[in-house]
Amino acid sequence: MTWLDVVAEKSLADEALTRDEALAVLGSGDDELMDVVAAAFRVRLKYFGRRVKLNYLVNIKSGLCPEDCFYCSQRAGSAADVLKYTWLKPAEVLENAEAGVAAGARRVCMVASGRGPTNRDISRVSGMISAFKERHPDVEVCACLGLLSSGQAEALAEAGTTAYNHNLNTAPERYEDICSTHSFADRASTVSAAKEAGLSPCSGLIAGMGETDEDLVSVAFALRSLRPDSVPVNFLIPFEGTPLAGQWSLTPQKCLRILAMVRFMCPSAEVRLAGGREIHLRSLQPLALHIVNSIFLGDYLTSEGQAGSKDLEMIADAGFVVEGADTGSEGLDVEGAGVEGADTGVEARYDLVQVRRRGAGTDLPANA
Ligand code: SF4
Repeated sequence: MTWLDVVAEKSLADEALTRDEALAVLGSGDDELMDVVAAAFRVRLKYFGRRVKLNYLVNIKSGLCPEDCFYCSQRAGSAADVLKYTWLKPAEVLENAEAGVAAGARRVCMVASGRGPTNRDISRVSGMISAFKERHPDVEVCACLGLLSSGQAEALAEAGTTAYNHNLNTAPERYEDICSTHSFADRASTVSAAKEAGLSPCSGLIAGMGETDEDLVSVAFALRSLRPDSVPVNFLIPFEGTPLAGQWSLTPQKCLRILAMVRFMCPSAEVRLAGGREIHLRSLQPLALHIVNSIFLGDYLTSEGQAGSKDLEMIADAGFVVEGADTGSEGLDVEGAGVEGADTGVEARYDLVQVRRRGAGTDLPANA
């Protein structure tokens, strides 16, 4: 057995890795990258088969937050040129959420900036969630409203909310390096309160904020001990106008190792590829689908993702199936999808074939 077989076997049995094993995954070389992905794929396959769950974000209140999370474009004093607005009207929330559902999302995440909601905010959001659930009882709703006070998680559960998201983000021992207005313990206690109220706990991390591999392992252990049902893994989008602008430290290979480490540590959790995947994984995004079983479709809270149709195409091309889609890739509304090729069962994609009109023999520059 190789060391990766040992790691995969432990994870398949839901045994915690040792710190050294988790560090070995993060510290493995590029020559072993495909072995790491293959080992993580065994775990993914056991719990989720080849399914990919689509989640859709709706930013229901954007920017102007009084908190100072250093990574966040919506923080107090942020000079990032992002959209800023107060609570969206319920009809607008519904319209945006339904766009995600129409594209195949099985979970809608309603997210508001701020330290935490007032009870009035909880009533407002509860109304939005009830209205949505009345029309889409089978679609999950996750609320993400910041730190919760007593009774608020229960009120959200009462309104039909499925899950509550509050990320731990980074290791407890370096939380003050990324925020001074609230603590790691504040965040962990909100995740626990949501769980106690019967909401499905969703909590994850952000990589690429100047942390060490030790820090990444620490936050993975902290997440494992909270037992969230879903674990979003974000890669820092270093917005200009925030304290972490200029922080570009991730490679696509490193992102895959981080995802694999999280998968091994939280084997049965829905591991979700979240913000920053396009800019950090780049052309290796499809490989990540062998590790995660869930992605955000389309755009993020304050930045644009790749087109939703490209996400669907990527999933189909990599041989995965959108959760809830009746017939796998055939059921997806992939932009430009063509007819089936003669006898092969393979879809014809003439939309991708373009006659050359530049370079040699033309007046236009060569594509080089
Ligand atoms: S509390 Fe949320 S919205 Fe506010 S700065 Fe922190 S991450 Fe951003």
